[in-house]
Amino acid sequence: MNKICFFDTKPYDKTYFDTLKEQYNIEIEYFEPKLGPKTAFMAKGYEAVVAFVNDNIDKETIDILHQNGTGLVAMRCAGYNNVDFKAAYHKVHVVRVPAYSPYAVAEHAMALLLTLNRKIHRAYVRTREFNFSLNGLTGFDLHGKTMGVIGTGKIGNIFINICKGFGLKVIAYDLYPDKNSDIQYVTLQELFQESDIISLHCPLSKDTFHMINEDTFALMKKGVYIINTSRGALINSEDLLDALKEEKIGGACLDVYEEETELFYEDMSDTVIRDDVLARIISMPNVIVTSHQAFLTKEALHNIAETTLSNCREYFDGNYLNNEVCYQCSKGEACLKKDGQRCF
Ligand code: NAD
Repeated sequence: MNKICFFDTKPYDKTYFDTLKEQYNIEIEYFEPKLGPKTAFMAKGYEAVVAFVNDNIDKETIDILHQNGTGLVAMRCAGYNNVDFKAAYHKVHVVRVPAYSPYAVAEHAMALLLTLNRKIHRAYVRTREFNFSLNGLTGFDLHGKTMGVIGTGKIGNIFINICKGFGLKVIAYDLYPDKNSDIQYVTLQELFQESDIISLHCPLSKDTFHMINEDTFALMKKGVYIINTSRGALINSEDLLDALKEEKIGGACLDVYEEETELFYEDMSDTVIRDDVLARIISMPNVIVTSHQAFLTKEALHNIAETTLSNCREYFDGNYLNNEVCYQCSKGEACLKKDGQRCF
């Protein structure tokens, strides 16, 4: 049996991984702390580590893992912006779960929009106190409005279909447009100018960091809604706060936040929140924040556990790693993977 260790463990992770681990002949040690330079020593003696979105897999972490004999970082998520791929090359292989349930994330994006627009969160609290007043609960019809989708990959595509079901007109921007689809692509500038609602479904990269900022807010319609279920740092949060204060933004639906690492997934209700930008954003009546939960469905958790354990099994058996990513192929450039080998 091969041994792996698991960082940033939550009860729901354990349930799904424990159900499948014997099938893959893998023993799992669960750790609560996040993986980072201060905790990487805990992986000593384990051939592989399982990590998540808010772990810090920087050069220092990778060097400690490598020195202690760990050869695989198995990301139990799709995104990998928290991995220093250059540092990992020739030291640890990195695998991920490219798709576990794009439906989960796309459906959550729409759930956030419907909740905020139709004030369901406020109505829920009111009626529980027998307050049946409708004052302040006015929304708008989605039908006929223009939805701008940035990133038309797996999640963006499903989100577009959901939007079409609501009678929204959809326009989209992608660095690599899908020429075989019937998606109406426009330039990024046109998307900012024409959309009533903008939903982000592209990865976080050097190119997309703070793509929503003071300058791009200036291009948008007054009252625009922004949905971000992708990665927090796609939006400059300080600029978002200013745009909210200036009432440029009609609503912001946020499942991710650029400084979420020390906050999201934890119960901070007894703690003084020192992040003034987040505290102020959350206090706005036209903002809804969820704690990076868009992925959280039974189907997604099952698929995450299955693919992660399968990725580890491929590594232990010396096989080609189907879901490996490196600093070359993560940018679409060729590495040894194109010859049917591991990235290095
Ligand atoms: P995907 O790789 O299938 O699609 C991403 C799309 O973005 C691709 O079509 C790509 O061409 C496009 N893209 C890349 N760079 C771009 C740029 N500079 N401008 C515009 N488009 C660009 O990925 P996916 O499975 O659809 O996931 C999208 C993102 O959702 C992930 O990167 C991840 O950050 C996020 N995500 C969030 C959660 C959550 O729980 N909130 C869960 C899973 C994924």
